[in-house]
Amino acid sequence: MPSATTSLRVAVVGGGPAGLFAAERLRAEGLQVELFEAKGSVGRKFLIAGKGGLNLTHSDAAALFASRYRERSDAVGRWLERFDADALRGWARGLGVDTYVGTSGRVFPMDRKAAPLLRGWVRRLREQGVVFHVHHRWQGWDEDGALRFDTPEGERTIAFDAVILAMGGASWPELGSDGAWMQALLDRGIDVAPLLPANCGFDIDWSTHFSERHAGAPIKPVVVHWRDATGQEHALQGECVATATGIEGSVVYALSAQLRDAIARDGHVDITFDLAPDRSEAWLRQALDRPRGSRSYGEHLRRAAGIHGVKAGLLHEALPKDAMHDAARVAAAIKRLPLRLLRPRPVDEAISSAGGIRLEALDDTLMLRAKPGVFAAGEMLDWEAPTGGYLLTACYASGLVAAEGAIAWLAARSRR
Ligand SMILES: Cc1cc2nc3c(=O)[nH]c(=O)nc-3n(C[C@H](O)[C@H](O)[C@H](O)COP(=O)(O)OP(=O)(O)OC[C@H]3O[C@@H](n4cnc5c(N)ncnc54)[C@H](O)[C@@H]3O)c2cc1C
Repeated sequence: MPSATTSLRVAVVGGGPAGLFAAERLRAEGLQVELFEAKGSVGRKFLIAGKGGLNLTHSDAAALFASRYRERSDAVGRWLERFDADALRGWARGLGVDTYVGTSGRVFPMDRKAAPLLRGWVRRLREQGVVFHVHHRWQGWDEDGALRFDTPEGERTIAFDAVILAMGGASWPELGSDGAWMQALLDRGIDVAPLLPANCGFDIDWSTHFSERHAGAPIKPVVVHWRDATGQEHALQGECVATATGIEGSVVYALSAQLRDAIARDGHVDITFDLAPDRSEAWLRQALDRPRGSRSYGEHLRRAAGIHGVKAGLLHEALPKDAMHDAARVAAAIKRLPLRLLRPRPVDEAISSAGGIRLEALDDTLMLRAKPGVFAAGEMLDWEAPTGGYLLTACYASGLVAAEGAIAWLAARSRR
């Protein structure tokens, strides 16, 4: 960066991982960087991610990693060529946080905590000269293109040479990202896809008895089977949790994009659960056919087929009472328990959101085509991915691409 540009001022709006990482890259280039955050502190969602051990990234090979971003795999794959899982692990190491690969291939900090990493990161950014403004809620632009912020002291309007928008999606709005930025962009003619729940649970029409008795119970192991729009059957083993209104949990999140889209298309989606993945239907039928003596049917089900608790509750939901004593029907239901998913849970309960600024509204440097000098990064862009560290990795990678886009744009402008 020529020294002529080091007096230039760049605003980063949003203090999540995408914004913080963009700020770091911009400051490393010598630019004057000010970061604006609506809440009283930065990185609140990052901290909450620490409750699950902070799954920073994944050890997938590059092509498989990129494929996790579904229809956006090409675009996100290009960001990852510039900042990938290894680079992210190296970055964490630079802050004194070593990482390890868990049995599922997911990558976590050794201590599985987010707070030490975030604390060290923010301290280093301050030392490097990034200026933080908390309690500054971005409201849009004024007529001259300056940024408008709501602050406890009233509205502030500040002009910058370049801007990075990194205000996140719309999940868990109490942590700061509420998608309220959308209107300001739509008003400027920028194409934004609606923010939809991703990595979310689904509603099922449980009986009152089932939801009162089994809400919160883990269902594991389970294999979920479903057919896609072309009729092709898919299966995924994992675990989930029964909730008062339906199901949630890792295996459900992994399928949630497809299931959400199927519900949008058809009004509902039918899936089946294999509640005994290690047993064949014939084995179960034979076991259940054995005389149960004086044992209750519930005890017989538990001893013969290993089905009890929430799994037995699911059988009662699916089968009429008289079928519960028919070994063939019970065995078939254990292997193919039908469930109808009615709707995804609302976006504010989801782990992440799909939708956001359409990538077509941005050039390859993540600059808004309709607003030169304004770049965007992180979950506010229209891509989605399952849990597994893919979300954070794409936030870092896009933060880097947007920052480098701004650096190149400012350098080119100062040469003119
Ligand atoms: C419970 C939970 C656990 C998760 N665990 C993981 C995990 O283990 N691994 C993983 O990869 N991902 C995980 N995620 C997802 C991951 O945390 C997000 O994808 C990521 O934080 C998004 O980063 P971001 O910088 O784009 O946005 P955010 O982290 O949402 O940050 C955006 C920031 O912008 C601020 N902001 C919003 N609007 C304004 C405004 N108008 N003006 C100023 N500031 C504004 C917000 O307050 C916020 O600080 C988890 C999410 C949740 C909810």
